[in-house]
Formats: sequence, C-alpha cells, structure tokens
Amino acid sequence: MESRQKVITALVIIFSIFFISMIISTAVNFREYGVKTAENKANLTAEIVKIGLTSHMVNGIMNQRDYFLNQIGSVEKINQLWIARSPTVIEQYGEGHNNETPRDKIDTEVLKSGETKSFTTETPSQSMMRVSIPFVATEYGTPNCMACHKAKEGEVLGVVSMVMDITEIRTSSLKTVLYNMAITIITIIFVFIVITRFIKPFVSIFYSIRDVMQNAYRGDYSVRIKGHHNKESKTVADMLNSMLEKLQHTFEELDKKVYVFIKNKNYVKEPDPLVNINSTIERLSDIYKFKQTIENDKELEDIYNRIASVLKDRFKLDDFTMIEIDTMNKIKKIVYTEEECHCQVLNGECRADRIHASVDSSIFKNSCELYKLEATEYICTPYTISNELTLVLTIVTRDEKTTEYVRSITSDIEDYITTARPAIISKKLMQTLNKMARVDQLTDMYNRKFLDEFADVSIPQAVRAGTSYGVLMVDIDYFKMINDNYGHDVGDEAIRIISGVIKKSIRKADIAIRYGGEEFLVLLYNCEANNIVQIANSIRTEFSKQKIYANGESFSKTLSVGCSSFPKDSESIWKCIKFADISLYQAKEGGRNQVVAFNEDMLNNTEVGESF
Ligand code: GH3
Ligand code: MG
Ligand code: MG
Repeated sequence: MESRQKVITALVIIFSIFFISMIISTAVNFREYGVKTAENKANLTAEIVKIGLTSHMVNGIMNQRDYFLNQIGSVEKINQLWIARSPTVIEQYGEGHNNETPRDKIDTEVLKSGETKSFTTETPSQSMMRVSIPFVATEYGTPNCMACHKAKEGEVLGVVSMVMDITEIRTSSLKTVLYNMAITIITIIFVFIVITRFIKPFVSIFYSIRDVMQNAYRGDYSVRIKGHHNKESKTVADMLNSMLEKLQHTFEELDKKVYVFIKNKNYVKEPDPLVNINSTIERLSDIYKFKQTIENDKELEDIYNRIASVLKDRFKLDDFTMIEIDTMNKIKKIVYTEEECHCQVLNGECRADRIHASVDSSIFKNSCELYKLEATEYICTPYTISNELTLVLTIVTRDEKTTEYVRSITSDIEDYITTARPAIISKKLMQTLNKMARVDQLTDMYNRKFLDEFADVSIPQAVRAGTSYGVLMVDIDYFKMINDNYGHDVGDEAIRIISGVIKKSIRKADIAIRYGGEEFLVLLYNCEANNIVQIANSIRTEFSKQKIYANGESFSKTLSVGCSSFPKDSESIWKCIKFADISLYQAKEGGRNQVVAFNEDMLNNTEVGESF
C-alpha cells in the first residue's frame, strides 16, 4: 500500500472510532440524563403527593384528596398517578374510598422492600416511564407520622406510583445525537480536508525524494525533486535539489578528472560515476604504488622484473616474454621471460615493432613467422618507451577465453609500462653513460676504466668459478710511421681496422680492450693454452691481409702479439697482463709480426725483470 493511502486509511479509522464513540457517548449520556430528570420529577411529584396527603390528613380533609391527586396528575407529562396503602394503613384506616390497594406487583414489591422502582417501556412511537416511590414512616419529621399511624419507624405506609411519558426525552436525545453527528461529520470532513491538504505536499515530496534517492542509488544524480506545494516542502526540495546538483557536478567532474590518468580508454564505464571514480582511484593507487617502487629500483633489470611481477600477480599471466628493441640500431634483447621464449625474435625482424601495432595470431593465423610454438596463440604488443626504445610484450595463450582476456588488458598493461617509462629511460641513459665511460669511441671497444672494474669484480668471481682467460697484448708494428707518413686520420683508420679484425676473431664471451694508442688487450674466455697462440696468430695474419687506404694508394701493416695465461702464469690478472706485455716486447725484439707466448725464463732477463 502506498504511504499516502496508509495515512488516509489511518485517519479514516481514527476518525471513525472517534465518531462512533462520540455518538454512543452522547446517546447514552443524554438518555441517562433524560431518565434521571424524569426520576427527579417523579421523586418531586411523590414528595408533593406525600406533603399534600399529609396536609389533607392533618386538616381532616382526607376525603377531598382526589381533587388534589387529580390536579397533581394533570401536571404535564404525568399520564397516571395513584397511591396504594400498605396493609398496616389499610388495617388502620381501611382501603379508602378509591380502593387504594396495590394495583400491581410493582406496588406490592415497593411496599414490601421500601425501595423506589422505576423502568421504562419503549414502543416505536412512545417511551413511557413507570416510577413507584415508597412513603416510609418516621417519627422525626414534621408532622410526626407516628402521631396518626400505628406504625413502626421505617415501615412503608404506602406507595406513590406514576406513569410518565418520556417520549420527548427520547426524541430530543435522538435529535441531539443527530445534531452532534452532523456537527461531528462536518468537523471530521473539515479536519480531514485540512490534514489532507497539509500532509499532501509532504507526502508528495516524500515520494519525490524516494524516486530521487532510488535513482541516485543506481548512480543517476540527474533526477530532481518536483511537485512541492507549500513553503516548507519547497525549501526542502530546493535544498535537496541544490545538493544533488552539487553532487552530480562534483562526481562528473571528478570522474572526468580522474579518468584522464587512465590510459585504457576502452575501459567500460559504469552509469554510476561513484563506481567509476572508485575503480579509477583503485587502479591509480595500484599504479602509483608501482611507480613509487620502481623509482627506488637500482637496475633496469629490476624494473623489468617488477613489470613481470605485475603481469604475473595482477594480470595472472603465466607465459610471456619482454623484448627490448633498440629501434635505431635494431638491437634486440630478451629482458624477461616467464616459461620460455617461443619467438625467434633475435633471428629476425619483430613484426609488432615494425608495424607499431599488436600482432594477434587469433585474428590471423601465423601472423608472425618468428613464432614457433604450435597449438598456441600469441599477442605481441609494442609499447613505445622512447624514440630509440620499444618494449615488445609477447603473451602466449592456450584458449579462446584467455586470448579474449589478454586483448582486454592490453591497455591496462600499457598504464603500467607507461608509468615505468621514465624510470626505464633514465636507467637506459645511465646504462649508456656507463657504457660510454667504459667504451672507447674510436673502436667501440672497452677501455682501461672497464678493465679496472672487470679486474676488481669479475676476475675474483672467475677465480672462484674456475674460469681461465688467455691474455693477448696486441700492438701494430711501426704504427708511428702511419701517422708520420699519412697523418692521424689514416692512423685512426688503421686502429679501426685492427679493432674490427680483433672483434671478428674472438667469441662473444671474450673481452677486447683498447689498452693504449694502437695497443689492444684481449681476454679469451676459458681458452686452452695452444688455442691462445692460435687465435693470436689468426689476428696477426688477418690484419696483415687488410688494406689501409691513404692518398689514393693502399698499404698493409703487421702486428705483434704477446700472450700469457690466467691463472696458469699468475693468479693475479695484472701480473698476467704484464707477462703478456713482456712477451709482446719479446715479439717486437724478435723482429715483429709474430706471436710470443710467455714463459718463466723471460723473467730472468735483467732488463725485463727490472722493468717488471
Ligand atoms: P712499435 O713497432 O715498436 O710498436 O712501433 P710503433 O711506432 O708502433 O711504436 P708505438 O707503439 O710506441 O707507437 C705508438 C704511437 O701511436 C704513438 C702515438 O703517436 C700513436 N697514437 C697513439 N694513440 C693514437 C690514436 O688514437 N690515433 C693515432 N692516429 N695515433 C695514435
Ligand atoms: Mg706499435
Ligand atoms: Mg704501441
């Protein structure tokens, strides 16, 4: 039931109860009052009769009492009036000439009991009241009853009975009731109209507030309170409407402002701005925590690991690879792989990087020829970190549902990677700076600073791991002549040529360092003693075949190499380097263009020994 109907029903019930109670109360009270009035009248009449009869008796004119009684009886509304003598009086004075014996049972009962009896008889047209009142003997009154009557104190001497017409009382009682009813009904209708008119605007505003709140609960703050009719409800409506206006505006603005921080614009928006704000803030908070964490990470590797943690823990991915692509130099590096990398990215061109868009095998089969794992799908997404750097994320999926899910989170992942961008760029820059400080610009080989660090950090680890190094000291023969004859630029070119020869002649795990002007130190990783000389010779012969161009002509140069073996010759790398240098000196001494391996006897040479 609607509240308005409830209020009206309650009012109707209350008013009906009030109305019925009032009518009953009026009717009963009025009737009681009427009966009481009639009884009083009867008592008064009986007293008059008593006094009158006593006077007649005292005056000795009892035989004239009929006139008196008839006169009394003719008083308005007394239809019948008679008296009845008690047996004692009858015995003393006889029945009287009117036969004043009890007329009915009531007279007899009143004579016996000495108590007044009254009752009414109702017919549709008339209402009659019968009252019988006893005369009780007393010697204390005036005149003294006992003066004439042979009776005892308190004995009933007679009864005055009368029948009165009380129809008028009933009629006027009915009239009063009807009158009251009319007034009450009019009052109730009036009150009802007033109350209804008074509560109507409040009920109406209540419904309006309810509708507005229901809409607000569903997230629609645009609905306003309408239909106010009085001042108070208008004030309430205005206040609530302005509050709703404020809320709507604030939430929409907040939603818009917060939303710009989220990169994923495909994100499905809810109709409720509060839900959107909440979820956006949750996402931003996660991203902010992530940002704070990576800002304190030391190495670039830590940042990639952190992104991997997010992919595993937050996005529940279990098979993915992150590939760092140097877009300028086309250098690719797998920086993280969960499970294993199923993509031959290092052996070819990354399609996602080339087209700057996601490559999704579920949309087009075998989209990328570098991907090798059968019976799986993959989504490779390139995330631009800087002009020179792209991070490609390859996610492997095994069913349609996961593929769909991965597609939906691509932009969410972008939020994290974009957040990590400045940290990746700065770490990358640091790497470049570090590299620049450790790499020689002319040859792109490591420099002496790198050697110092390598000797401090990696050599002790190599010793613990049982790793050995072949140490080569390479120096161009009569290099100064190139400078002198052709100038520094040609000399530089000769240095670039020899560095190229050295790089080509060694493996990835080996380390080449520009030790001095045209002097190079090569550390051959886990290289057998005979292989050391072999590699040194291959460098030597390869260089001698190289043509150096200057002033329209070309010439060739030779080089000499001194070799030692670490830790075979010494457990100190610096000593081994020195031994290689001694050997180089020997090679130069021995006529150049040759490789000389270190042996202990060289230390016996005084000149060398002193310099050592
Ligand atoms: P040797 O056979 O005994 O080694 O004779 P050499 O002339 O090669 O003698 P040395 O190795 O001592 O010569 C080094 C010269 O290399 C001296 C210096 O002028 C030159 N040099 C050093 N650094 C550079 C460089 O960066 N560029 C050029 N063009 N020359 C350099
Ligand atoms: Mg030289
Ligand atoms: Mg030299």
